[in-house]
Formats: sequence, structure tokens, C-alpha cells
Amino acid sequence: MIRKTKIVGTLGPASTDPKVLDKMMEAGLDVVRLNFSHGKPSDHLERAELVRQLARARGRAIGVLVDLQGPKIRIGKFKDGPITLARGDKFVLDAECKEGSQNRVGLDYKDLPRDVARGATLLLDDGRIEMWVEKVEGTEIHCTVVQGGVLSNNKGINRKGGGLSASALTEKDIEDIKTAAELKADYLAVSFPKTAADIRQARDLLKAAGAKSLIVAKIERAEAIDNLDEILDEADAIMVARGDLGVEVGDAAVPALQKRMIRMARDKNKLAITATQMMESMIESPIPTRAEVSDVANAVLDGTDAVMLSAETAAGEYPVEAVAAMHRVCLEAEKEAQPYIGEARLTRSFLRTDESIAMSAAYTSLHMNIKAIAALTQSGSTCLWMSRHSTHVPIYALTPEVETRRKVTLFRGVYPINFKISKDSDRDELLEAAEEELRRRGAVREGDLIILTIGEPIGKSGGTNTLKIVKVGGRKKA
Ligand code: PGA
Ligand code: MN
Repeated sequence: MIRKTKIVGTLGPASTDPKVLDKMMEAGLDVVRLNFSHGKPSDHLERAELVRQLARARGRAIGVLVDLQGPKIRIGKFKDGPITLARGDKFVLDAECKEGSQNRVGLDYKDLPRDVARGATLLLDDGRIEMWVEKVEGTEIHCTVVQGGVLSNNKGINRKGGGLSASALTEKDIEDIKTAAELKADYLAVSFPKTAADIRQARDLLKAAGAKSLIVAKIERAEAIDNLDEILDEADAIMVARGDLGVEVGDAAVPALQKRMIRMARDKNKLAITATQMMESMIESPIPTRAEVSDVANAVLDGTDAVMLSAETAAGEYPVEAVAAMHRVCLEAEKEAQPYIGEARLTRSFLRTDESIAMSAAYTSLHMNIKAIAALTQSGSTCLWMSRHSTHVPIYALTPEVETRRKVTLFRGVYPINFKISKDSDRDELLEAAEEELRRRGAVREGDLIILTIGEPIGKSGGTNTLKIVKVGGRKKA
């Protein structure tokens, strides 16, 4: 059995030891997330280099996802350490305040007083503390505590229902995009986008920096849900960022939104990552809870491309066990996953030859006893289209392009294979070599039916125009 759903793991103090990271790769890690909320550019450059070095040693492709910090809105620091707030307490969030105390604290986002008015509900520390806004006076937001608790330095603030105007890309993000380009990030995640324009801006900056990273829009603001359609059109992937999203739209709304978001992404030929607290208890425990196992399995059944680990691998005590747990839960859930073809696809016209070939391959693999699909590809787009159908047939991306091999590490059911395709290769020889490559790897056996796709002219991106169904080893007997 080979796992179809991909595993993303966040690097951090718990996982930068090369031995640990290598074990995580052995346990099934497909994509490494570098969280730019922490660390210096030089740390990230080093980590990316380490990931690729270890991947090379294993003869594998591992993707690198750079996650920008974005405009996380935070309170400032307290003079005498954490404070405890009780229901009914008066508290002031003050953009001018330098040092916090029992009844007042500063803000790193100076425009917050302009974004809220009487009647707004503010949620601090991922919703653990709730405040009701009584009035706004200049730089001061006067609140009454509705749900109390301990409040410490730099905790995040969200407004219930969304509506904060902070732009998605901060000065720091704009600088960090240059670092992402320098380390040749395969994926760039934009935090807190509200509109498609935010994604477009990130793409322009990436392009200016000379990078070709695919863009992941993190859906974690209420407005992003309203604009999901246009955000999906602009991005290459979305992340169901359940942490912040749950604070903005309410935790109970998240599971149904997750299903809708994944379905919409697939129908629009985009990728989906399901993230946050998936194996949260494994920060401190070697085994997940039953609820966590169910959560990961349900994300697989929802059709997610990848499941993600955050603190579990960045700061937890069991980073390797967390990857291994995800691996076995995904495998088991996939046995029950039903083939899926989005309804939207049944009536849509295909505008491109390569897309039509990809769809034909996926459709045929659902209706014939096909053991594998081998796509000879430059850019990987045929594999993306093929994998938007959910079938039980593995899709091998045979490509000489190292960037393409890294990119497809996130695609559900797609596996990269290093394969030489030179422009003067003969088509039939290439197809035979592809068949032989799959057999050599034990992916297929003599007598299996497989689908091969290829384009002409050979080696040109976007040129796939041929689908061939062959019996492995069949040529010799003929
Ligand atoms: P974060 O995003 O971990 O960068 O905050 C994910 C989320 O909000 O769920
Ligand atoms: Mn977030």
C-alpha cells in the first residue's frame, strides 16, 4: 500500500537536528514547512539546505513550504509578567501604551482602534479571552472582559466576524518573500489574505524576485470565506488554517467549512492542505487521542491533498512519532475513501489538449483495471489535473525537472520520479523506458495494465497530447 495523502511537517527546535529530521523523512514526511513567524532569514536558508541535503541522500524529493508571518495582530508586553483578568473587569487596549499593567496593554497593530467600534467582540490568545468593546477614544479601546483568564506578552487578537483592515503583506513579509525566492521555496503560504488582490500582490513580488513558487492562500479570516471563489482562482492552493479561522468564524463552523473548502479547491484544479491541532496532544504524548485520529482520517475522506503538523513537529517531544501516526491513519482511511469526480467537471468544456488527456487518463483509470498512471511531464500540470479526481490508481510524475519533482510532493496520489527526457528522444523509446522504470521500482508487474501520457514535441511544457494503454511486458510476447 502506498499512501496518497501527503504529510507536511513544520520545522522548529524539536526537528532541526539532522538525525531527527531524517527520521521524520523515513516516517513519511513529504513537505517541510518553514514558519517565518520565528527565526532569522539565515536560519531558514540553512534549514532549507539541510532538508534538501537529507532528501538527496535518501534519493527523494521533499518539498519546502515557506509560511509568511502575515499581519498577526498582537498585544504588547506586560511590565510585571502575565496578568489575570476576571469577567466584568475593565481593560484598555492602547496603541500608545509602552508597558502593560493590570488594566492596560499596548498594540503592535496601531490601526486597531480605527477598525473597531462599540459593540465589537475581541478575542485574545486564540479565543481564550473575550472582551466587549464599550467605546473607542483616540488610540484607546475601552473594553469589558466577558471571558477572563491569564493574559501574557504578545498574544494574538482577532475580531469576531472579521473586519480588521491590516493588509495581508507586511513590510517583513515583503522582505521574507526575497528569502523565499533565494531558498527556492516550492510553496509560499500567504497568511491572512482577504481578497484575490492579496494573492496577486504576493505573486508579483515572487516574480520580481525571480521565483516560481506555488502560492498557498491560508484561509483564516472571515472575509476570505466570502471571497473564496476569487482567492482560489488566483492561488495554487489553500490551507484550511483552522486556528485563526476558528477564532474569527467560531470553532463550530470550521468542520463544515473544511469540507466545502476542500471540495471547491479540487473542483477548481487547486490543492488543499488541512492544518492546525491535528495531532495536538502529541506535543506531549507518544500516541494521539481517538478524536485526533478521527480528525486526520476525516480530512483524508474530505479529499485533502495534505495534512499538516505544526507544534507537534516544531516544538513537541514526539516529532517522529507524530509523522508516523499520521502516516498510518492516512493509509487506513484511504481504504475507505470513495472515488470522486466533481460534478462541476461533468459539464465543463476543456480548453486545453493536455487537460483533456489528463482527464481521460483519470476517468479511464476509474473504469478499467489500471494499476498505475505514468505521466511524462515537464511542469507537472497533467499530474495536477489527474489527481483532482480521486481514484485508487497511483500517478507517477516522470520528469527531469527537479523543481517539478519537489512541487508534486504536495499533490494527493502523485509520486515524483527522476526521469531523463531529452528533446531528441524518440517517443516510443521513452514510453518503453517509463514502463521499465515503473517495473524496476516494483510499482507494477508483468501483465499489469498501465496508462502512459506524453507530449509532442518531446520535452515541451504543456504539450501532452497522447495517452497510451499498455500491458506491462506485453511487447515482448507480441
Ligand atoms: P498559523 O496558521 O499556524 O501560522 O497561525 C495556521 C492557523 O491559523 O490555523
Ligand atoms: Mn494562522
